Amino acid sequence: MQRTAIYPGTFDPITLGHVDVVRRGMKLFDRVVIGVAANPNKQPLFDLDVRLTMVRETFAAEAQVTAVAFSGLLVNLAHEQQAHAILRGLRAASDFEYEFQMATMNRRLDEDIETAFVMAREDYTFVSSRFIREISGMGGDVSELVPAAVLPFLKSVRQS
Ligand code: ADP
Repeated sequence: MQRTAIYPGTFDPITLGHVDVVRRGMKLFDRVVIGVAANPNKQPLFDLDVRLTMVRETFAAEAQVTAVAFSGLLVNLAHEQQAHAILRGLRAASDFEYEFQMATMNRRLDEDIETAFVMAREDYTFVSSRFIREISGMGGDVSELVPAAVLPFLKSVRQS
């Protein structure tokens, strides 16, 4: 049986912190499906299709990794993808409260889906999508913090 994990997030945009989480997940699971959440309540900077494109381009060379857009319940996506695990990353203690609530809620919704946490690489613990949007929006260089596929999209929003 193939071991599949869903890695859900907003990915607005995907960062090297996210990439690090996926790479760690690739060692634990046969397939990693990145679930790009529509999340309209978060009012993302990038449209869903752009966020999906940036994720797909980042992992174009990895057959083990795919990406899908989703809205609605994460456990439903997990069923659709025949995944038995949810992959999440932890940066600092501040991530824990929210992650703990989400994992507990998902367990209530489906007892058979396990949430697996991996720890970010130390050099990326300070990286968040919000930080990338803010720094890039003010003209700062984020080229060492995001995958190359993201740079042209950040540039295009700076110019608009
Ligand atoms: P969400 O809107 O669900 O928080 P994000 O795209 O911001 O989506 O994050 C998705 C997941 O990736 C979360 O588990 C988050 O803790 C984790 N994550 C984000 N940035 C990093 C990072 N730099 N290192 C490790 N994990 C991270």
